[in-house]
Amino acid sequence: MQALCFGVFALSTLMPPYVPKAALAPPAENGPSSQFLLVEEGFLMKSSSLTQQGARRAYAEGSYHTVKDGESLERLANLYGISKETIAWANNIGEGQSIHPGQELLILPVDGVLHTVKRGQTLLGIAEMYSVPVQRITDQNRIQGGFIMAGQELIVPEGEPIVQSPPTQVAQQPTPQPQPQPQPSQQDTSPPPPPAPPSFTPSPTVGVLQKPCSDDCFITQYYHGGHYALDLQDKGGGPVYAAEAGRVIRAEYGWNGGYGNVITIDHGNDLVTLYAHNKELNVSKGDYVQRGQKIADMGATGLVYGPTGIHVHFEVQLKGVKKNPLLYIQ
Ligand SMILES: [Zn+2]
Repeated sequence: MQALCFGVFALSTLMPPYVPKAALAPPAENGPSSQFLLVEEGFLMKSSSLTQQGARRAYAEGSYHTVKDGESLERLANLYGISKETIAWANNIGEGQSIHPGQELLILPVDGVLHTVKRGQTLLGIAEMYSVPVQRITDQNRIQGGFIMAGQELIVPEGEPIVQSPPTQVAQQPTPQPQPQPQPSQQDTSPPPPPAPPSFTPSPTVGVLQKPCSDDCFITQYYHGGHYALDLQDKGGGPVYAAEAGRVIRAEYGWNGGYGNVITIDHGNDLVTLYAHNKELNVSKGDYVQRGQKIADMGATGLVYGPTGIHVHFEVQLKGVKKNPLLYIQ
């Protein structure tokens, strides 16, 4: 849930001065104007009247809905014509959690997620990150000239949360424990790794994902055609950190097609990270790791060239596609 920060709207002044009323009108089959009234009601809670400015915000940024008795996510999804997931994501409602009367919910105007722009992020980068056409984002958010600012909230139509930790895991491990907890696994018959306190990077970065190595590590090879990853190096080696909380789905010693000793972590929502060329692995398949937890020592195993070959080859895969990791760690 670090990925997205909800509820703060900014920069409505950047919106153009005209929004077609038709864009705000409810689908015809939903009956006369009930949906639109609710949108208005949402804005009456924030400002004294539905000004034209408010109408623009309703289109570009969504509205608020105060839950009444008997209302459910399903019902609100039907009412607003968006998916249950969109409402749940925008309001940090975990799977199986319900809503309660009086609760104020952010209702996006379309299916998708909110994204808070980070320093250095571009529209193209954000579109690439969520695998949606950039035009969908500029249209929905009424962006002119491609200008966005850090801190701005963007609706990413058809976007899905990039990281969404399973709620059960949050409940099981509210804080990092000094001793690793054995993970129940039916297939894993090997003994658990020797107990060692998880170590965390001193200053986790603020990106969707965290840089997988120390503050001092630096990029030695960028993402490009033929190298769909980021190579990062610490002088003489160093720790490798989990870029985000998740389940270790691969922790293997060996050649592994050139990866060498490799770790793969599944973060949910079709997001997977991979860490190659490690020396020692500190985690096993099936382990649940926290963001910033040390998972390995940087090494030069597998296919590595040159005397300064010690580095971590870091891949970010979204829905099986290798994405530019820089988009996620900045
Ligand atoms: Zn590499």
